[in-house]
Amino acid sequence: MNVESHNETIVCPKCELIQIATVEHTVPWHSYVHTCSACQYIITESEWQRVQDTVAYYEELKRGVMGVLGETPL
Ligand SMILES: [Zn+2]
Repeated sequence: MNVESHNETIVCPKCELIQIATVEHTVPWHSYVHTCSACQYIITESEWQRVQDTVAYYEELKRGVMGVLGETPL
């Protein structure tokens, strides 16, 4: 039987390479395990760093700047 999965963009805590990792929807918890394609470091859930989070953070910053400028309606 097939396990469902989805991809996430993460950054390796060792070499900081940004790469795509597959998260398997195993029961009862999803499997957050990925081997870095550059340094072979095994990234587990506690070190899982989604790049989306970083992007969202910068989006927040940008919105803040836009708020200060307040002249560019979206
Ligand atoms: Zn790495």
